[in-house]
Amino acid sequence: MNSSKFNVLSLVKLQMVDSRISKKASDIENVKNNEELTLMKKEFDEIDDKLKLVDKRYRELENKRKRMEDSVGTHNEKIERDEQKLFSGTITDAKELVNLQEEAKTLKKSNDEIETQMLELMVKIDDLLVEIKNIQGKKEELESQISSMEKDISRQVKLLEEKIKNLEAIRDTVTPGIPGDYLDGYEKAKAKKKGIVVGVLRDKFCSACNMQISTVEAEKIKDLDKVYRCPLCGKMLIIYRDEIEKIISELEI
Ligand SMILES: [Zn+2]
Repeated sequence: MNSSKFNVLSLVKLQMVDSRISKKASDIENVKNNEELTLMKKEFDEIDDKLKLVDKRYRELENKRKRMEDSVGTHNEKIERDEQKLFSGTITDAKELVNLQEEAKTLKKSNDEIETQMLELMVKIDDLLVEIKNIQGKKEELESQISSMEKDISRQVKLLEEKIKNLEAIRDTVTPGIPGDYLDGYEKAKAKKKGIVVGVLRDKFCSACNMQISTVEAEKIKDLDKVYRCPLCGKMLIIYRDEIEKIISELEI
């Protein structure tokens, strides 16, 4: 690698910024893939389907009730007409009189039966109305829970996106301090293999692979201004120093 002099800490900082950006990006995915919300939406769809079904049943019964009511009305009109004829004194034929009386009697009996059925039907309709109200209540409750959860998620996502923006702005201040060949090497390695590209060596441990290098290898890594390669993972390696803590706290945003 080119040995042009630059603050090697820029590479460490770049790595830290990128690690935080990718962590925030994965946080966004996690926030968006909310399992509880998915379950709630599924439950909402189920409730909505159930409501449609019960509502359909209610309409059917209500139509049936209306048809019954119409029949009773038609029958009543007919009964009234028959009775008017019967009491008008215009009918002299005995057979016709009996027929009219019979017809009125049959219609009244039929109305009684229909009205009994209607009462039973109305009980069912009332039950369905109560059920519909309950389901609607549940649906509205779930709807408001979903909406508040979605708002919460979008708030969290927005916050994370802002943090990413801040980190990207920091990144833009870091990259100009890194020589082109180092930056290219960094970007290529980052694109090829997601994860850490630059490791920090501390107490013989490489932070990229989390492994301890041998004392012999560690002996060779002494220059604070040099970018080394980890003998174990091959990644860029920079010697730890206290200033790194400052970078970490600076990035705690
Ligand atoms: Zn390593």
